[in-house]
Amino acid sequence: MDLEKMYKLFPEQKDFIVWLEGVRWGNNLACPYCGANKGISRQAGENRKARLHCNNCKKSYSVTVDTAMQGSKMDLRKWVLTAHILNLNSDISYRKLSALTGVTAANTFTIAKKIRQALTDEDIFLKNILKNIEKM
Ligand SMILES: [Zn+2]
Repeated sequence: MDLEKMYKLFPEQKDFIVWLEGVRWGNNLACPYCGANKGISRQAGENRKARLHCNNCKKSYSVTVDTAMQGSKMDLRKWVLTAHILNLNSDISYRKLSALTGVTAANTFTIAKKIRQALTDEDIFLKNILKNIEKM
């Protein structure tokens, strides 16, 4: 997987988010707050983050809630690509990694820390994402 292929497969970030939702929840977009799996709707509008809304507890959320990606303002295609490359080559320099992903070196440094921690913690969501990305 590289940036060109990532953009070809997922022309817009929201396409990628829908894919991430499938990896995390399958066909069941369970609410992370109340656990409801019915009455989940997609928020209207051209929202980059493709937020979901739970009609049961009235909270909205995105696929990044309670994950290492939460709060990141970065394009999630680049975030995952960074994780993918780091997972395959943990010794890569931030400069080289940054050149491969188009993420600034400073941001690469910041997310690499989170990614390494998530990998150490055996984060199941991230592991499943990477397993699927490797097969593409
Ligand atoms: Zn809910």
